Amino acid sequence: MGCVDTHCHLQMAPFDGDRVQTLDRALRSLEWIVVVGDNLETSRAAWAMSGDRVHAVVGCHPYHAGSFDDAALAGVRELARRPRVVAIGETGLDYFNEFSPRALQRPCFERQLALAAELGLPAVVHSRAAHADTAAILREHAPRLKGCVMHCFGGDASFAGQCLELGCYISFAGNLTFPKASALREAALAVPVDRLLVETDAPYLAPQCHRGKRCEPAYVTHTLDCLASLKGLPAEDLGEQIILNACAVFNLPRAAR
Ligand SMILES: [Zn+2]
Ligand SMILES: [Zn+2]
Repeated sequence: MGCVDTHCHLQMAPFDGDRVQTLDRALRSLEWIVVVGDNLETSRAAWAMSGDRVHAVVGCHPYHAGSFDDAALAGVRELARRPRVVAIGETGLDYFNEFSPRALQRPCFERQLALAAELGLPAVVHSRAAHADTAAILREHAPRLKGCVMHCFGGDASFAGQCLELGCYISFAGNLTFPKASALREAALAVPVDRLLVETDAPYLAPQCHRGKRCEPAYVTHTLDCLASLKGLPAEDLGEQIILNACAVFNLPRAAR
């Protein structure tokens, strides 16, 4: 079945023992995947993994906002100009795990949105327990942004509506399949199919059938199946639409099938 994983961290340590095999499993069922950095080092590693069917996203996660100085911004800018880098991220705000003070998260986010606008790249945005501030900052930058993905969407239908108004694509991860995630499924129902994406955020957030274990990109099909049954569409058709959406936001050509 055709699909893509628009957000995973296959460069990270949990895959050190079987990265090649995991990528191989992914590319047997998926057209391509996006490997996302969360600081300068993991962004470099994401780029180093990139290839024909592996795209890279480079940037600084709000967890690491405390170390996002001018040198880190310059490092991200240099990486972002390389081929196969399709977006800036992941960036955003996380007030749930406040590993960096909020006062540092906001400028870290804004400087990366400005960089994305400068380079004509979309932004991959992380928002947890910070939706009002995320929306306010995005509203300021949206007119200059080339595109935006609200990754691992964790809000309600109202936040989904705000994100859609701001031009974002909305990406759902394995937590969509959790029995208690009815609010999330309700939000997914409110997102038009031409703005939907799916992702794993691997190694985190394995879908219900693998819950508690390490997640991997191949599992994205479980989230696709869940979304397809919510929307009352064949998973193959929705997968095809999601590939088109992902190509549109990341400015990738749609490969002939
Ligand atoms: Zn994230
Ligand atoms: Zn992530």
